[in-house]
Amino acid sequence: MIAIDTEHHITYSSTTDLPYKTCSGKCRKAWWKFDFEARSSKHCPQCGGKLRPVAEGKHFRVIETRPGKLQESDLSQYQNEEGNSLFDSQMFPFINLQHVSIVKPEFAAKAKQQWA
Ligand SMILES: [Zn+2]
Repeated sequence: MIAIDTEHHITYSSTTDLPYKTCSGKCRKAWWKFDFEARSSKHCPQCGGKLRPVAEGKHFRVIETRPGKLQESDLSQYQNEEGNSLFDSQMFPFINLQHVSIVKPEFAAKAKQQWA
């Protein structure tokens, strides 16, 4: 598990690898190699912006790493707009989660308008 901080998101991934590319468009999300197994890595899957190689310290910083997969407990501090946890805890073990991006609260309105 790795957690990284980018301009607009906190992103958790089931890998311990560092991300591979970053979006230079509206959303500024970082992406991992496995996100592009079935698609081109030229454009951002989320907002369509141009992707470029990602640099630690410049585009993201690592908040946390831990051996093993992403766990529900890693995300327990987050809730959806209705105040419920993001994932059904009974379903969680069956979800093949590669990464989860949480939009930082201060960018939530912008995200909705522009890229979500
Ligand atoms: Zn993007």
